[in-house]
Amino acid sequence: TNRTLTMIKPDAVEKGYIGAILTDIIAAGFTIKAMKFTQLTRRDAEQFYAVHKGKPFFESLLNFMTRGPIVAAILEKDNAVANFRELLGSTNPENAAEGTLRKKYATSVTENAVHGSDSDENAAIESHFHFSEREIF
Ligand code: ATP
Repeated sequence: TNRTLTMIKPDAVEKGYIGAILTDIIAAGFTIKAMKFTQLTRRDAEQFYAVHKGKPFFESLLNFMTRGPIVAAILEKDNAVANFRELLGSTNPENAAEGTLRKKYATSVTENAVHGSDSDENAAIESHFHFSEREIF
């Protein structure tokens, strides 16, 4: 499909990067279809990252993702999931290509500034996690 779900993570919000990241996303051709400023509870984060349960970094991931507010948004563009993963860059910013969001705004593999869905199926699940039907345009 043509939609994906992004989150501007707590590290990037703390550093004042919301505006710059949204500007880059829009400049790359994505349209915003839903957006909110919110904070994940521990229960939210456990649910959102359920696939990582049991991994060594799960606990630090939960602490990180719940420590402050985030911006969640639904983005539209042709081939949105793959195109947005390309704009994001590698999970580890040290491996991220020049010009990618993680190269520009991330500090480590955990504090990597921005999330993007990894499949169309997860984009739909994650979009409904954050938004009700009347919040999506
Ligand atoms: P995201 O899902 O946030 O877009 P991703 O798909 O690139 O990132 P995943 O493998 O799904 O990466 O991991 C989800 C998140 O868990 C990462 O963004 C990162 O914050 C954290 N994470 C992943 N791998 C590690 C690791 N080896 N050490 C620490 N944190 C990690």
